[in-house]
Amino acid sequence: MSEKGLLIVLSGFSGAGKGTVMRRLLQKYENYSLSISATTRSPRFGEVDGQDYFFKTTEQFESMISDGQLIEYAKYVSNFYGTPKDYVEEQLELGKNVVLEIEIQGALKVKEKFPGTVLLFLLPPSAMELQKRLIGRGTEDFATIKARLSRAVEESQGVENYDYIVVNDNLDICVDDINCIVASEHNKAVNNLNLIDNIREELKSFSEGVIYDTSIV
Ligand code: 5GP
Repeated sequence: MSEKGLLIVLSGFSGAGKGTVMRRLLQKYENYSLSISATTRSPRFGEVDGQDYFFKTTEQFESMISDGQLIEYAKYVSNFYGTPKDYVEEQLELGKNVVLEIEIQGALKVKEKFPGTVLLFLLPPSAMELQKRLIGRGTEDFATIKARLSRAVEESQGVENYDYIVVNDNLDICVDDINCIVASEHNKAVNNLNLIDNIREELKSFSEGVIYDTSIV
């Protein structure tokens, strides 16, 4: 239905599996683009600059803010994260659904600026599973894991602002659910007003002109 892409935010507690869900979504379905954020956090083992994040110094990040290059930014635990504007706008124009994998403060700012944004919150099947995943991935020390769990407690209080909650228990079911939500959002009347306008104009001209009975031809 609507031809322009939708802006989609995927948030979730650290360890909920946002990265895995995103990779599977992009692999399984066309028409999605993942926005790459800028951050002042250091790269984790295996992360590539320009692919996972644009890794910036605090000074570089601050000049991106003052040059108006970011749609939104927020501080998460002790680092800054932000969404670069140009890529997102370009992909939306191309008809791609652009997914921002960002935390809750940024999500709310994006929704305020672009009310058509679809906010999705990814939940783990249980708190125990979340803790297991955070420890299991072995990328953070225990102090950081505790800070992230405590941030999860705070974030759980803002989840009612989201449009949809999706549970990441079975990866493929979760990804298919997200794709169905996005398809329904494209069909919303408010996203198809151009289509309705075009049909109305055609109907008007038919109603005022000669009616050809195509069954005779
Ligand atoms: P991580 O350090 O685990 O890669 O990301 C930490 C948190 O920052 C996650 O909740 C992630 O969704 C969020 N995040 C990543 N990029 C952005 C961004 O551009 N803006 C905001 N507001 N949050 C982001």
